[in-house]
Amino acid sequence: MAIRGIRKKQIDVEQVPPAVTPPTRDGAINSFPSRPKLTSKAKKRDIPEGLWIKCPSCSGLIYDKELDDNLKVCPNCSHHFKLGARERIHSMVETCSFEELDPMMESVDILKFTGSSSYESKLVSYRKKMPMLKDAVVTGVGLIGTHRVALGVMDFSFLGGSMGSVVGEKLTRLIETATDRGLPLVIVSSSGGARMYEGMFSLMQMAKTCGALSYHARRNLPYISVLTDPTTAGVMASFASVGDLILAEPCAMIGFAGRRVVEATTQSELPPDFQTAEFLKQRGLIDVIVPRLEMKQRLITYLHYLMANQVAS
Ligand SMILES: [Zn+2]
Repeated sequence: MAIRGIRKKQIDVEQVPPAVTPPTRDGAINSFPSRPKLTSKAKKRDIPEGLWIKCPSCSGLIYDKELDDNLKVCPNCSHHFKLGARERIHSMVETCSFEELDPMMESVDILKFTGSSSYESKLVSYRKKMPMLKDAVVTGVGLIGTHRVALGVMDFSFLGGSMGSVVGEKLTRLIETATDRGLPLVIVSSSGGARMYEGMFSLMQMAKTCGALSYHARRNLPYISVLTDPTTAGVMASFASVGDLILAEPCAMIGFAGRRVVEATTQSELPPDFQTAEFLKQRGLIDVIVPRLEMKQRLITYLHYLMANQVAS
């Protein structure tokens, strides 16, 4: 059968008129809209906030992404900005090798603490602000180079990295895991000290973590403590200062009580570099100062030596 004779009308298809530009109300032909005038407001380039960061040390402006790519180290003067726990873990362990321990453990307001704001409301606001963190420490087991390591990293941005029951418990469980599995331990500290909202419960964490460390040491397993800016008070007075090897980032503020308290107590003038990593290295508290960009490689070297001794023993 020939089909060329079939027309639209024959198969009941409605004839559609060709599309035309609708005439304007006054019948004039449509023309292109006139070019919009640029106002002084529109001429200004909108720069989103937080794109550029001013370095507190050299006052230079650093592009946010460049700073992130450089592990939050100023490319001009090597000033070390604070680094979050997740970013630091990512920079230290091999890709996809980190198994987190106790990721859902959360603090509770056991004392019903109230001050200018309640502890409960502080916890809620911080968890909302930082959904990737449940508290001020992230712990787990991962590979650094070829070494399987128990790794704990504190995060100063969560309530000043303060050590409450959860921080103490997570670190203790990490140390116990390292002891049970025969693993070396690395803890990166960044803390303002014990968490006042938890009173005596926070102070008890000092003894608990050090107790667990002594069992770890009895198995001749190495513990490397890495101190970052700032590491102070209850954390410095407990697990952070008892490493077999104590590393610190350059210019990190490290100490127990604040400068003014020490000055008032000792009634003496303190040197300008008091409580810095460099000052403490000169006096033997810190073994070595390691820039952040070299940290992973240096840890691999130290673990190689320390674990070689472990295997030999
Ligand atoms: Zn700088």
